[in-house]
Amino acid sequence: MTIQQLRDVLKTHWGYDGFLPLQQEAMQCVLEDRDSVVVLPTGGGKSLCFQAPAVVRSGVGLVVSPLISLMKDQVDGLNAAGVPAACLNSSMEPDARRRVFEDLEAGNLKLLYIAPERLVQPGMLDTLAASHVSLVAIDEAHCISQWGHDFRPEYRQLKLLKERLPGIAIHAYTATATIQVREDMIQELELSDPEVLVGSFDRPNLSYKIMLRDGGTDQMATIMDRHRDESGIIYCISRRDVEKTSEELNRRGYQTRPYHAGMTDEERRDNQDAFIGERVDTIVATVAFGMGIDKSNVRYVIHAAMPKSLEGYQQETGRAGRDGLEAECCLLYTGGDYGRWRAILDGSDSEPTEGAWQSLQAMQDFAGGVVCRHVALVEYFGQSLDSDNCGACDVCLGELDQVEDPLVIGQKILSSVIRQEQRFGADYTVKVLRGSSEQRILDNRHDQLSTYGLLADEDVRAVRGWVEQLVAQGFLAKVGEYNVLILTESGRQLLAGEVTPRLLKPARVARARKSRAHDDSWEGVDRDLFERLRELRRELADEKSVPAYVVFGDASLRDMARQRPATPAEFLEVHGVGQKKAADYGEVFLAAIGSVD
Ligand code: ADP
Ligand code: ZN
Repeated sequence: MTIQQLRDVLKTHWGYDGFLPLQQEAMQCVLEDRDSVVVLPTGGGKSLCFQAPAVVRSGVGLVVSPLISLMKDQVDGLNAAGVPAACLNSSMEPDARRRVFEDLEAGNLKLLYIAPERLVQPGMLDTLAASHVSLVAIDEAHCISQWGHDFRPEYRQLKLLKERLPGIAIHAYTATATIQVREDMIQELELSDPEVLVGSFDRPNLSYKIMLRDGGTDQMATIMDRHRDESGIIYCISRRDVEKTSEELNRRGYQTRPYHAGMTDEERRDNQDAFIGERVDTIVATVAFGMGIDKSNVRYVIHAAMPKSLEGYQQETGRAGRDGLEAECCLLYTGGDYGRWRAILDGSDSEPTEGAWQSLQAMQDFAGGVVCRHVALVEYFGQSLDSDNCGACDVCLGELDQVEDPLVIGQKILSSVIRQEQRFGADYTVKVLRGSSEQRILDNRHDQLSTYGLLADEDVRAVRGWVEQLVAQGFLAKVGEYNVLILTESGRQLLAGEVTPRLLKPARVARARKSRAHDDSWEGVDRDLFERLRELRRELADEKSVPAYVVFGDASLRDMARQRPATPAEFLEVHGVGQKKAADYGEVFLAAIGSVD
């Protein structure tokens, strides 16, 4: 079996012209029956690593997957691409289950998705051992590790696979980057001398932006206006925040639905289905939302407040732009978010781990940081990035301006902290510097300080940002229950003028700049036609009761609206159009494209 066969399958079934990074190597392992561990970020194309070889090989590829919703979407997607696939899970009717077993026995399936608890039920492994299984793929394989963020005890039983299906290679896939998790996967699955493939964790198509929250709803509305009719997720810390934010946005004429663990299963499912079926564009949610959401065209993720870890931030923002097209990730935060998380962690029943505090601190440093967001994220995960300018973050896009006299401003802030006897927090310090006449300040006689009103001409958000940046750069530290500001050793050097901080402020340009990925992917696309094709896609998806992106991804629709194919042969040249989809949808899409000029 050759790479050429894989290429052919990619083209005929999926309409792709080549491999994404490491896909070819990963597929090679499957063809050669060599155990493998594949670590690629979300959107890295992990599913195809086992799906395409399963099509090339004879027999059925077994896929262990943790969530029913995830399985169902994958099977729908495979069927839409003309690949015979099915799933087995606990929620199925006996009739449907029987049909799957018949198909399995008749050798009609190329891929069988199965939940881990179903796999280890009596008789199941015997049935599989008697079938012609070509490969075993473990999706979301980090679920096997206690170090992972979603440990699932039922994954532990996958140990049985090597024993009960001897001689069949196992391939584990995950987006979780830590070495500990990787080693756990190898050990728990008893992989033998596996090939370990780890991709770059950078997501170049995501643009990261960080803003101080100031009238959060207004800021969210501005972001949402840039993404009219596009899908987005807004993450909040608490259930109450979710409800409030969703209601407030709906009052302003946006259409959002809430999602959190306090709602009934039914409400949650309704809202999730509406989002996936594109009947509602925006979900406002706690972190309970997202696992198993395979929606490829999420165009923005807003964090209405700072999340509690950089791992969480990476994962939640990772749900944007899975289709490789540009997407925007905006974080709105204030210093208060940090205090809020501290209180939550302190108040939790189980003693928070050292790791939890470190993750929170890393998140705080990231938020107040002034280096390229892509570089900061990738370095946190132990990789490096060669780029002077990512073209896709607020720092590199120049949305933040360097202040002209950072030393003087830094000294003003630090000396105010000293004069306030290092007994006050960031908000208070900003008020003193901006000359507020709030009673508390007058009571403390801080209107008498020489630093009072020193930065009265500056925007409050900018001053607040500088304080955070000084903390992130280690000139100030926040201590105690109230996050009181104190000077560090480097802070003293700054006061003495021996070092200069780097201070940024929001750029004056009102409109956020577009990322490079944004310009590339819209190049030559007829926007009106794209919108009409989206409408058509929604109708077809509703008819078939499948998610819209199962019909075609956004990348395919944009390519159609760029190339304007006029014949079936030209239609087959569109990105993401394989033979089955061309046969199913070619006529109606060609008609729609032909009727627009
Ligand atoms: P992951 O499971 O790693 O998050 P997916 O398997 O969902 O990623 O793939 C992400 C997106 O990339 C999907 O829209 C998929 O169709 C697309 N994709 C995968 N492989 C290729 C390829 N070789 N060429 C173009 N697009 C691809
Ligand atoms: Zn950057």
